[in-house]
Amino acid sequence: MPTPASRHARGLYIAGRWCDGEAGGRIAVTDPSTGTVLAHVPDATVADAAAAVEAAAAAAPTWAATPPRRRSEILRRCFELMVERADALAALISLENGKALRDARGEVAYAAEFFRWNAEEAVRIPGDFALAPAGANRIIVDYQPIGIAVLITPWNFPAAMATRKIAPALAAGCTVVLKPASETPLTAYALADLYAEAGVPPGVVNVITTSTPGPVTAAMLADPRVRKLSFTGSTGVGRLLLAEAAKNVISCSMELGGNAPVIVFDDADLDVAVDGTMLAKMRNAGEACTAANRIFVQAGVHDAFVRRLTERMTALKVGPGIDPLTECGPMITAAAVSKIHRLVEDARQRGGRIHCGGTPTAGSGHFYPPTVITDVPTTAAMAREEIFGPVAPIYRFESEDEVVAEANNTEYGLAAYIFTRDIGRGLRVSGRIEAGMIGLNRGLVSDPAAPFGGVKQSGLGREGGHHGILEFLEPKYIAAAF
Ligand code: NAD
Repeated sequence: MPTPASRHARGLYIAGRWCDGEAGGRIAVTDPSTGTVLAHVPDATVADAAAAVEAAAAAAPTWAATPPRRRSEILRRCFELMVERADALAALISLENGKALRDARGEVAYAAEFFRWNAEEAVRIPGDFALAPAGANRIIVDYQPIGIAVLITPWNFPAAMATRKIAPALAAGCTVVLKPASETPLTAYALADLYAEAGVPPGVVNVITTSTPGPVTAAMLADPRVRKLSFTGSTGVGRLLLAEAAKNVISCSMELGGNAPVIVFDDADLDVAVDGTMLAKMRNAGEACTAANRIFVQAGVHDAFVRRLTERMTALKVGPGIDPLTECGPMITAAAVSKIHRLVEDARQRGGRIHCGGTPTAGSGHFYPPTVITDVPTTAAMAREEIFGPVAPIYRFESEDEVVAEANNTEYGLAAYIFTRDIGRGLRVSGRIEAGMIGLNRGLVSDPAAPFGGVKQSGLGREGGHHGILEFLEPKYIAAAF
């Protein structure tokens, strides 16, 4: 019995056409709420990847020469079509990813905004013209499309991680091959329909799914016409891809893992701090790179904060994402549930005290209950690894210096959240925290108009803001004498 989701599993999307993979293999896409198979998508081989790069190469000269105003109008149309189809796209995201419908709606709005923002950026590509200091010539800097871009995205934001790359790439005049995560490919394919309708020419965006991402990506990166790799995913895979890209000295943008601290000072507005922590922790049921992973609360408000956060976490309605009442959906896979529980058990054995949750939910679907845990030593595995689930570990601290040192005691540096009424302290601590993004009295940092990205092992480069398009442009300097 075909499900509506299977409509988006028509084939690989190469050169504007839907086609079967060369080997005819299939990947099953399942609903994490039930384990039911939703659809099968093609399993691309190295030969399919070569065909996708070929299509991107064939489309590249014309797309690069398309006037920025026209590229802008097409991107604007992508935005409008996404907004028109927001409900259907949100339902599809909920089905294949499991996230609560309200989170999926938020994702679609966020994802669509990258088209609107980059439609505006497409007609503002910078350039420089200056007299050289010695006076002998002019320095002209012309920003050109970097070339064919390979885009690799994770399962946790199936729409937004794709549009955050595709929109600036197209605005810059690049053509792309997108390889979405095989857990959530249907949204990427649903968006492919929309690009064609918006007027994106064939071959400008190609989408392939594969169960063998290592060799398939390596083959694409070995093609000298590919000049950009933009990856969002785990730090481990990011390291592998950086090594692969080094062989052809390919420009890399890397959006990798996180271990975000939340810091709640004694003088924080507790309502704001609890709301902000809930948002930072529970958006996408904790399956976000920016998710609060370590919650540091100053001794004076520690107990009150724990009580209030536990009340809020206990009250969350857990269920299938597609149910409009659900606030916390399932995890993506059974393996994700096992990993979360391993971290909780490790913390419990080291003296952690569970205030709610703490045991995987029985029955079908990959559910883990909202969990609050205190008295976790900072030597616990969950203080170092991404939890990527609805588990909130709370650590007590006494002084600013102590919490800054502890917050920075991680290889990651993506997001951090600080709650205090003292704006001087807020800005001072923001400056001392090693992270690419800080939420100050706010539990959400993602904004298409702002530069998103991390420091340390959370990544290289930025997406969004005026910075996003620069990742797909190469400055060409002309020393001009006349
Ligand atoms: P992942 O690294 O396992 O997979 C990401 C993508 O890489 C998928 O498309 C996957 O198929 C592909 N991949 C896996 N192995 C590969 C290989 N050897 N060669 C080429 N491609 C390969 O990550 P995930 O589990 O899908 O996503 C969760 C991770 O993503 C978390 O670490 C999270 O923090 C991170 N993430 C980061 C950001 C950010 O903006 N910094 C955003 C979302 C998610």
